[in-house]
Amino acid sequence: MKLILDASALLSGFQPGNECYTVREVIDEVREKNARLRISLSLEEGSLKLVEPGEENLLEIKKAALESGDIAKLSDTDIKLLSIALDFKKKRAEPVIVTDDYNIQNLASRLGMKFSPTTEAGIKKILTWKKICKGCGKKFPIEYQGSCDVCGTKVSKIAKR
Ligand SMILES: [Zn+2]
Repeated sequence: MKLILDASALLSGFQPGNECYTVREVIDEVREKNARLRISLSLEEGSLKLVEPGEENLLEIKKAALESGDIAKLSDTDIKLLSIALDFKKKRAEPVIVTDDYNIQNLASRLGMKFSPTTEAGIKKILTWKKICKGCGKKFPIEYQGSCDVCGTKVSKIAKR
């Protein structure tokens, strides 16, 4: 299953371990510091990947958004996000768009694509780890004290919900 994450999904955190995808513009929308840290760690470890939609699917999404009337409420970023989901669908890769945006959800279901609100996407299960080594990214349980056993950097507490 490919999870396609919008900004609300990235802000609420997401479960590493799934295959997560988004577009560059979504990441640019996230300003919150802890979320940005999680995002950059996930990009580094490869649990979150950036993809660009194909032209043909971009056009197809715009056309569908015009027909459904969602176009006025959808940003260019939303359109791109829906387009990468469509790319995956055409490759039979079962995309699930994680979003709380009603217009994205509406268009996704019109196109026969699955979506999930952030609260139902297993997203609450994120951050079973609460401390992290800023040197190498290794995760530790909240009660862990001292330095990282891999690289020796002091282990820091990280944001939790
Ligand atoms: Zn370390």
